Amino acid sequence: MKKLLKIVLLLNICAVLSPLLTVGFSAEAPVELPEPNTAVSEIGLTLPERTSYDETTLVRLCAEGSVRELPLKDYLVGVLAAEMPAGFPEEALKAQAVAARTYTLYKMALYSGQAELPAEHQGADLCDDPGHCEAFVDLTAQAGALWGDSADIYHQRLETAVEDTDGMILVYEEQPIAAVFCAASTEKTESAADIWGSDLPYLQSVDSPGGSDCSRYEGTVTIKQSDFRDAILAMAPEADFSGAPGTWFRDSHRSAAGSVIDVLVGEVRLTGSQVRQAAGLNSANFKVKVDGENLVFTTLGYGHGVGLSQYGARYLAMDGQTYDQILAHYYPGTQLRLEG
Ligand SMILES: [Zn+2]
Repeated sequence: MKKLLKIVLLLNICAVLSPLLTVGFSAEAPVELPEPNTAVSEIGLTLPERTSYDETTLVRLCAEGSVRELPLKDYLVGVLAAEMPAGFPEEALKAQAVAARTYTLYKMALYSGQAELPAEHQGADLCDDPGHCEAFVDLTAQAGALWGDSADIYHQRLETAVEDTDGMILVYEEQPIAAVFCAASTEKTESAADIWGSDLPYLQSVDSPGGSDCSRYEGTVTIKQSDFRDAILAMAPEADFSGAPGTWFRDSHRSAAGSVIDVLVGEVRLTGSQVRQAAGLNSANFKVKVDGENLVFTTLGYGHGVGLSQYGARYLAMDGQTYDQILAHYYPGTQLRLEG
């Protein structure tokens, strides 16, 4: 009998585009973080029993609107370039490589099974939208633009991280896991249950140091009350904003890690992730106050906060931990498995 892992999950990978240099390199590569990822996709999924692959397996990728095929290894290097600063410590890059490989296979298995391919994929296994799949940079065309004179060094670092973890994936009960990751959690990661309402044993809240080293750890968004109201009405037309703005938010519930699980907004109960999306916040760990005609949101953390925190991985790597220890910390109960 097939072992099936059935979960319903809102998946939301956050991305950190391009190099935010921190370790080992002094070159001032541009710091160009993307808009905070707030897109979420609801996925009800049943994974097939087992997928077989190796690093030459072709990935069909829909990037910048067109579909291409490339070997898994090359795809992962491009994902790393888009998702983690290339100057991060080697063990953090390796942890990210395993998480990205695992998540890639998870999605490929997902779409080869019961889940329907989204139309935006144009038939491809994955897209380059970090809010849905994983961000991707075509390094054959963009390495120079990303890293300038240091392009060869950084490209090699990422290739090494992928090659040194060749074939390694994370499994739970023999299945590749939904190895979601984010830029910077607060002092604790969030659980999938709190953020997406789906309790997964390997996506629980764990201690996570180092998040505050992220330049986006603390954020402020000032938004006109009318713009915020319109954004909420677009997702919840029944919301009632007839009261004073100071009464729009009430009865919030927070996770132990600090994110808003849900809150009444205009008398409609929304998730913190929905409010994050409506206001374009860095995270769902927010506070809000009224300031004249505006709402001012302040946030902690960058991304959904679930799974591996990239800045946490950086911290642990600098503290001497190896990639397998980092992964075991952020995805408790999982095992590393060598495929291929
Ligand atoms: Zn996608």
